Amino acid sequence: MTRTPLVAGNWKMNHTPTQAAAWCDALRAELAADELPEGIELGVAPAFPALPRVAAEIERGLPLTLIAQNAHRELSGAFTGEVSVPMLLDVGCRRVILGHSERRQLFGETDALIARKVRTAVDNHLPPILCIGETEQEREAGRTEVVLEQQLQRGLAEVAPEALDDLVVAYEPVWAIGTGRVATSDQVAAAHAFVRATYAAIAGADRAAGLRILYGGSVKPGNAAELAAIGDVDGFLVGGASLEAESFLAIARAMARTAPS
Ligand code: PEP
Repeated sequence: MTRTPLVAGNWKMNHTPTQAAAWCDALRAELAADELPEGIELGVAPAFPALPRVAAEIERGLPLTLIAQNAHRELSGAFTGEVSVPMLLDVGCRRVILGHSERRQLFGETDALIARKVRTAVDNHLPPILCIGETEQEREAGRTEVVLEQQLQRGLAEVAPEALDDLVVAYEPVWAIGTGRVATSDQVAAAHAFVRATYAAIAGADRAAGLRILYGGSVKPGNAAELAAIGDVDGFLVGGASLEAESFLAIARAMARTAPS
């Protein structure tokens, strides 16, 4: 089954709306000089205030999927400081990152809360990019597969498999995020194959064959080609290297070169 690669930038709490517009200008200039091959999806997850600026650039033709970095589990209500799925849809978001390790570790998000958010997003047609990944201690204790299986099963516990057709999973070893320590090709290949097999047990072999599994963790232009060549790697979730349009696009080009035409 052909899976359209997805390269998604997660800007985290970086880039004001003005900086986001400059990033879009830089991306447009790079694409005008050398277009990306067809058959790859590019996405970007700006901070909430920058979403409308990037949405306007997308409306003007910039080939990007607008992604939210987070969403609340409820659709509306007394939740000061939070942002809901309908708000994100209204501003033009077409995917939402859920379960990022920074949300789990810094904001105390549990698998149960993430499952609730996944349900709200799926029920309201905002497909999630569900992030899963082990810490360094868990890897050293030989618990990587247990953790991946638990996070995947629990994160998807509230949705029926048939509602998950546009799900994306991002495998992000926590020890590789923002550290410059990229996982080895063998580690990535093993984790992605395990995630696909686990998903097959949850949602069936056909859905698992179509599931896009992204790798995230210190992806850079210099290591993207090697990672992109791994069979079960269907794209990247990129933090630091997505902040510059040039390096983001260099990673996307490395991914596009391995995509089936
Ligand atoms: C991330 O935060 O999802 C990420 C992968 O970050 P970085 O690329 O900076 O490691």
